Parts: sequence; C-alpha cells; structure tokens
Amino acid sequence: MTEFVFQELNIENNRPLAPLTTIGLGGAARYYCALQSPRQLPVARRYCEQHQLPVFVLGGGSNVVFADGGFAGLVLHVAWRGIDVKQQDAQVSLRVAAGEPWDEFVAHCVARGWGGVECLSGIPGSTGATPVQNVGAYGQEVADCIVAVECFDWQTNSAVTFTREECRFAYRDSRFKSSAEKGRFIITHVQFQLSARGPLDVRYGELSRRLLDRLEAMNSNTNEQADFRVTRASESDGQAGAPHATGTEQAGRSSTVSVDTRQSQSDKERQRLRELSAHLSPVERMQTVRAEVLRLRSGKSMVIDPEDPDTRSCGSFFMNPELSADEFAALKTRINSNARSDNSPETRSDSHGDSAADVAIPVFHLPDMRVKVPAAWLMEYCGFRKGYTRNGVGISRSHALALVNRGGSTADLRALVAEIQERVCSLTGIVLQPEPLLPD
Ligand SMILES: Cc1cc2nc3c(=O)[nH]c(=O)nc-3n(C[C@H](O)[C@H](O)[C@H](O)COP(=O)(O)OP(=O)(O)OC[C@H]3O[C@@H](n4cnc5c(N)ncnc54)[C@H](O)[C@@H]3O)c2cc1C
Repeated sequence: MTEFVFQELNIENNRPLAPLTTIGLGGAARYYCALQSPRQLPVARRYCEQHQLPVFVLGGGSNVVFADGGFAGLVLHVAWRGIDVKQQDAQVSLRVAAGEPWDEFVAHCVARGWGGVECLSGIPGSTGATPVQNVGAYGQEVADCIVAVECFDWQTNSAVTFTREECRFAYRDSRFKSSAEKGRFIITHVQFQLSARGPLDVRYGELSRRLLDRLEAMNSNTNEQADFRVTRASESDGQAGAPHATGTEQAGRSSTVSVDTRQSQSDKERQRLRELSAHLSPVERMQTVRAEVLRLRSGKSMVIDPEDPDTRSCGSFFMNPELSADEFAALKTRINSNARSDNSPETRSDSHGDSAADVAIPVFHLPDMRVKVPAAWLMEYCGFRKGYTRNGVGISRSHALALVNRGGSTADLRALVAEIQERVCSLTGIVLQPEPLLPD
C-alpha cells in the first residue's frame, strides 16, 4: 500500500493528548487520526503494520490517563456516528455506531420513553467504549441491554460479532478489557434491546429513595405518604433477607463493627415506586429517572462541567472490591483489630462524629453471600478525605473515589494512586484496583 492511500487517514504528528481526555493529563501522540468510518480501519491497520507502530483506540477519553511521555504509536480516534432503530411491539432494537456520544444516545432513548439505559445518564464518553468496562451506575449495567457487539479484529483484519454471552461481561470488565485480548477488538457498533414502554425499574437504594421522595411530593395522598415513610425507616435498619445484615457485632473491648445495608433497595421500596409511577407515561417515567440521576451525579461532580474543577477526572478511580463471606469476615476482623491496637486511621472519626472504635461498613449484597464494599468508604476509612491535594493532583471535594488533576502530571497521579493502594492494603488487607486504563 502506498503513502498515497494513507492520505485519507489525515494523520497528524505529535498531537497533544491531554485535551482529548477528561482528566487532562499526558503527553502527545506520535501519530493521531480520527476515523469517520469503520471502513478506514483496514487502512489504519496497514499503516501501523508498514510503520511498525502500536495502536491505541480512543473514544471520549474519559477513562484513560496517558503517560507524560505520550504515546509512541498511532492514536486512532473512533468518530463514526449513527443510530438505527427497529421497533417491534414492546421492544426496541438499536444499532449504535461506536463514536456516538453515550449520553446523547441515552437522552435520545429517554425522550422516546425507551427503558434500559436511563440510570446510565450523564456518563461521559462514547457508546463504543461502554462494553469495554461494562459501564454501570445506579443499579444498571450496559450489559443488561446489550444484544451483540460488532468489532473489527485488528489481529485477523476481519469483522466479528460477539453475542452478549461471548462478551464475558462482569463487574467493570469484559473480554475487551481483559489482558489476554486487550486492544485486539475495535468496537464498531453496539446492538441494544430496550423496552419500548420504559417501566420504572430502579434497583439502587439512594436513587430509589430520592425518586420516592420526588414522586411522593407529586402525589396528593399525604396520609399514604406518611404511613410509608414509617415503614421504610424501620426496614432500612434490618434489611430482611440480606445475608450479612447481622446488625451490630461486639468485638474486642470497646470496638464495634457493624454492617450498613442502606446501599441496597428493599422490595417494598421497589413495589412502592412502581405504584407511584403507574400513572406516568413511559416518557415521563424515564425523564423523571434521568433528571434524578443527573441531579445526584452533579452533586458528586460526576457530570462533566468545565466550570467544576472536580470533574477533571476519570470518574471513579478504583473499582469497588467484591468480597466472599470469608474475605468480608477477615475485613471486619482487621478493622476490629485496628481499633483494639489503636492502629485506627487518625482522621477517621472527625467528620462523621463516630468514635474511632465505632465503624459501620457499608455493603451491597451480591449472590452467593458475596458483598461489594465501596472503595470510597475504604479510602475514607484510611484517612483519604475529599479535597486532599498533593503535587497538583488529589481527591475530588465532592466524591472520595474520584482522583482529580489540579495542574499536576501523570507521574504525580501515579504516586498518589500508589500511596492510596499501599495504605488501604496495610490497614484493610484489600488491594484497590484502578478502573481507568493507564497506558505506558
Ligand atoms: C465524570 C465521570 C463520570 C464517570 N462515571 C462513570 C460511571 O458512572 N460508570 C462507569 O462505568 N464509568 C464512568 N466513568 C468512566 C467512563 O466515562 C466510561 O468508562 C466510558 O465508557 C469511557 O468511554 P470513553 O469513550 O471516554 O473511553 P476512552 O476513555 O476513550 O477509552 C477507555 C478504554 O476503552 C477503549 N476503547 C474506547 N473506544 C473503544 C472502541 N470503540 N473499541 C474498543 N476499545 C475502545 C480504550 O482503548 C480504552 O482502553 C466516568 C468518567 C468520568 C470522567
């Protein structure tokens, strides 16, 4: 293939990468091109082959931290767009181009009353990147409504389509992120199936309670509202049926470790939400959920806003650890022993007003007696507070799990990541895993 053929790629030299990412870090790409069609992929592949270059596929840059030295290969920006829709009875099938901005796609669905992605409102980035880490928020994951993922196989130079099962989706993971095949498949289109008459199906406790308050305020029957509030308050203490909701455990001389299950949603809450939203049209239901999700996310600087410096991040930086029953028991023992040996992080008790020996571990219950412990809680327990800043990088003032760039470098960020991982591991035994990609 001659250099003439490569002209259609419009390759740029030394393109700064920081402005193409939400965290604004990293050096330049040796070569960069924005592809307007997946048909250009074989040409780009040939270019890399001929010039012996590694390739990096870039979407919206909201989950990547480039090295200060940049990327010594071709950064290939996925820019093709388009949404095809087929509606049949209660189902809507959509084929969405990888370069379609995710939140514009969600808004498109919500405006039509199609249900399945409304809780994923406000997540930045491209649609093509959503299967990579099985994007999720507020109880929904993109895998829930993906039917198939269409890809270009960089290794074999051919198109391939994976069914949902073949994508091997897991919590913030898929075959596209796993090390064995990382970078091999470039996602060209994602096929979704949504419900044409979006039901109000919210599973996340915090969102569910906010929606209940909003819908109750809209509801004229005030007696009914009051009765329900009492029921909810008493239920949230016990969480019937939750495997680890053992109440408060006494351990050691003065330490108290308890399990806080308020993150979960009760069946009654779900049922009540359905009742309160029954008179709304699908469009109203989806719009109500989207508005509440955006409100919650904005309060945590989780919606990109150029005016809000705490949104110069990759969103949540660490994944929430999922623990077996034994691992969770070990965590509780560790925290008890910290309290007994006075090894408790000194900063833990001040803002919550808890005594150093009074710790409630928040959990989300999972199948098989497993629990998910919020990484944000582990960080705060270990003394990493919102607003902490060191060498131009730090922790968001609105969200303990978001690391932000305040004028530092990728090296500074990596040092902060290492500091957090080391202290959390030494105090809890848990190794926090980063969610974003940090290419060398
Ligand atoms: C403020 C903020 C809030 C966030 N909230 C959430 C949240 O609630 N839940 C959540 O899960 N994530 C969240 N994120 C993370 C991020 O938005 C998502 O992971 C998003 O899907 C990344 O999309 P992107 O297009 O920006 O990907 P990029 O950052 O460009 O790339 C991320 C990875 O995907 C690969 N990739 C990108 N496009 C393709 C493609 N077409 N084919 C193959 N590989 C590809 C890249 O090579 C890279 O490995 C948040 C980020 C920010 C900044």
